[in-house]
Amino acid sequence: MKVAVVIPCFNEEEVLPELFRRMTAAAEKWPCDWEIVCIDDGSRDATWPLLVAQQKRDPRWRALSFARNYGHQTAVSAGIHHASGDAVMVIDADLQDPPEEMVRFIEKWREGFEVVYAIRQKRKEGWPKKAAYWLFYRMMHRAVAFDVPHDSGDFCLMDRRVVEVLKRMPERNRFVRGLRAWAGFRQVGLTYERHARAAGEAKYDFRRLFKLARDGIFSFSTVPLGLVSYAGLWISMFAFLGIIWILATRIFSGFFSKIGFPPVQGFATIVVSVLFLGGIQLISLGIMGEYIGRIYEEVKRRPIWVIRDSAGIEPQESPE
Ligand code: UDP
Ligand code: MG
Repeated sequence: MKVAVVIPCFNEEEVLPELFRRMTAAAEKWPCDWEIVCIDDGSRDATWPLLVAQQKRDPRWRALSFARNYGHQTAVSAGIHHASGDAVMVIDADLQDPPEEMVRFIEKWREGFEVVYAIRQKRKEGWPKKAAYWLFYRMMHRAVAFDVPHDSGDFCLMDRRVVEVLKRMPERNRFVRGLRAWAGFRQVGLTYERHARAAGEAKYDFRRLFKLARDGIFSFSTVPLGLVSYAGLWISMFAFLGIIWILATRIFSGFFSKIGFPPVQGFATIVVSVLFLGGIQLISLGIMGEYIGRIYEEVKRRPIWVIRDSAGIEPQESPE
């Protein structure tokens, strides 16, 4: 039996020595063979030379480097694509997810679960980020037909059979935890405590997180498209009632004046309703744009990633 660990690394020179130490120490305790596949996601610091040196020291550590920065989800996908073994695990380089916990994944896997994912118990982040995560997972739950577990990240174990399903998925915008949930099989969550970064700075800024959230929803759901028609329906109904109201105040102006509603020449109402409708239309166009953009990305059929260099591992073409 053999398990592989996939580690995406982007400008992680500060944590790598600590990662090599802790990850190896944890893996030595596992009841099976192992290999580690690090993906250098176009780092501009010493990440790649450090990975190559580690491969020389311990050939169970392997590494690939991307031709440029493709993003965390693409790096994880490429790692899963290249990993061998009967199960593949994914962990971040920054040691926020403790490698010592991974033995619990292996135990659950041997009990017969094909996917074991980690659920964050407590987030050590500011409240705006926490609130955004909370909202995102609830929206995702509403919009998507299959279960995407709340507060689960990419920290997980997947059986070879699940990995083969993932490898056959050709999409460019990859939201790995969504694809993993889509695959099905027997899945189980384990709670753990997420720590602060061991060193270095977070590579996810607001823009990247927002892109991740959009990939999560728009790549797995057409509910937003339905929302647009729904909003349109309600607004037209409201407008129809408005028309009746206006006609009534004109026709029965005497009665309406008596009860305190004289006919008014309100241009403000018009401006407000035009702006409101304009806003709704822009949002609708934006939602359509999300899908059209995705169709465009997919039909171009470009490779998902391009590999520049490798150490101890044979680079493979990204899936068609
Ligand atoms: N990462 C990556 N490419 C990127 C951004 C991040 O491979 O473009 C890696 C990074 O090296 C780390 C993991 O993804 O191993 C998670 O990144 P980070 O810790 O910055 O994200 P957060 O913990 O804030 O979600
Ligand atoms: Mg992190």
